[in-house]
Amino acid sequence: MSNITYRLEQKRNLVTELPGPRSSELTARRKAAVAAGVGSSVPVYATDADGGIIVDVDGNSLIDLGSGIAVTSVGASDPRVAAAVAEQAAHFTHTCFMVTPYEGYVAVAEKLAELTPGDYEKRSVLFNSGAEAVENAVKVARLATGRNAVVAFDHAYHGRTNLTMALTAKNMPYKAHFGPFAPEVYRMPMSYPYRDEAGITGEQAAQRAITMIEKQIGADQLAAIIIEPIQGEGGFIVPAPGFLPTLVAWAKANDVVFIADEVQTGFARTGQWFACEDEGIVPDIITMAKGIAGGLPLSAITGRADLLDKVHAGGLGGTYGGNPIACAGALAALDSMVEYDLRERARNIGDKALTRLRALAADVDVIGDVRGRGAMLAIEIVKPGTDTPDPDLTKAIAARALEQGVIILTCGTYGNVVRLLPPLVIDDELLDDGLTVLEDAIRTAR
Ligand SMILES: *Cc1c(COP(=O)(O)O)cnc(C)c1O
Repeated sequence: MSNITYRLEQKRNLVTELPGPRSSELTARRKAAVAAGVGSSVPVYATDADGGIIVDVDGNSLIDLGSGIAVTSVGASDPRVAAAVAEQAAHFTHTCFMVTPYEGYVAVAEKLAELTPGDYEKRSVLFNSGAEAVENAVKVARLATGRNAVVAFDHAYHGRTNLTMALTAKNMPYKAHFGPFAPEVYRMPMSYPYRDEAGITGEQAAQRAITMIEKQIGADQLAAIIIEPIQGEGGFIVPAPGFLPTLVAWAKANDVVFIADEVQTGFARTGQWFACEDEGIVPDIITMAKGIAGGLPLSAITGRADLLDKVHAGGLGGTYGGNPIACAGALAALDSMVEYDLRERARNIGDKALTRLRALAADVDVIGDVRGRGAMLAIEIVKPGTDTPDPDLTKAIAARALEQGVIILTCGTYGNVVRLLPPLVIDDELLDDGLTVLEDAIRTAR
C-alpha cells in the first residue's frame, strides 16, 4: 500500500447537503434528455475520482464503497492506467482487430492465459461488456459440443442482452416486459447457505441440481453450465464448500462445458486473481470484465484451446472488441494490481471489514447474515430477529450512508443486501471511516 500515491486528499468532506445544487441542476437536465429506464444509485454527479474518493460537482468528497460496481479496483484514475491510455490515444484509437490487428490485444490474451486458472493450453477473445463475454462463451460451448441447452442458477446475474437476460434470474428490473427470452436456458437451485434448509452440504446442494439436470434436460443435451463462483447482483451468495467442485466434476464426466462467470469476482477482488482458485476448481471457459482494465470498457473469455479453436474464422469478434485503448488500460491495470499487491490488499480489507461487520451483527437484530470474501462483502438485512428480507430498511441504510457522504450499493433477489466493493486501493483510514458511517446508518435507519 505504501507505494500508492493519491492525487486527491483521501478524506470524506461534505460542503453541501446531498445532492447539492449543481447535482440537482444536472438531474433536471438529465430528466429531459436521458431515458427514464437508466437508473443511478445516487443522485450525485461525479467530476473527479481517485483512490477511495469520488468528488462531486458541488465539491463534496464522498467515500466510494462501490467502485462503479467492482470496476475501479485500481482506482478510477490510476496514474499507470491514465498514462497508458493517453499514450495509446495519441497514436491510434482504433483500427479494428478484425481488420488491422495490433500488439495490445495479443498481449492482453497472453496475460489472461497466464493469470486464469488451469494449466491447459488457452485461447482468448476480447469484447466490450460482461454480457457480450457471456454470450460468446455460450456460443463457443454450443458450437464445440453440438448441444443446445444451457444451465444457469437461481439468483444468477449474467447481463441485459437477450441471451443474458434469459440466463439472469431476477425479473424486476432486468427482465420484466422485455421478453420473449432466448430458449434452451434452464434454471437450477443454487447453494445459498443462509436460506437453504439447515444442514444441507455443498455436495448435496450440487447433487440436487445434478438430479434435476439429468431428469429435466439430459446430460447429452447440455452444452454448458454457467455460474458465478460468488453470485454478484443476486446477493453476494457464497455457495457452500463442495458445491462448485461437485458441479465441475459432473460437467467434466459428461462433456459439459463449465463456464465460470467471473465478471464481478475477477482480478483480485476476492483476494486471488479469480474466485475459482479459492474453490480449487478449473473452469473450461472463464468470462471476465469489470475489474480488468482500470475502468475502461473491456471484457474477455479465456478457455480451453480445443474448445475455442473449434470456432470457424469470423465466427467470433465485433467492431470494438479489444479496443486498443482498453487493452492499454488493461495491461497497465494488471501491472498496478501486481505492483500494489492488490490480492493481499483485498484479503486485508476482507479481514478488517468482516471483523467489524460480525461484531455489529452480534449487536443489532436486523443483520441476518454477514458473508463474502476479500473485498466482496455483504450483509443481509432482515426484519428484527427473523430471516424475512427487509428491502425498505436496506434502501434506508444506503440513503442514510449517502447523507453522510458514503456511496454504498445494494443488491439481492430480495433487495435486502448491502454490498461492499471498495476500490482495492482505498486506504485503511478511509475504509474505517466508511465502515463507521455504515454502522451508524444500520443502527439509526428505520
Ligand atoms: C455485471 C455482470 C455481468 C454483465 O456485465 P456488463 O458489462 O454489465 O454487460 C455479467 N456477469 C456478472 C457476474 C456480472 O456481475
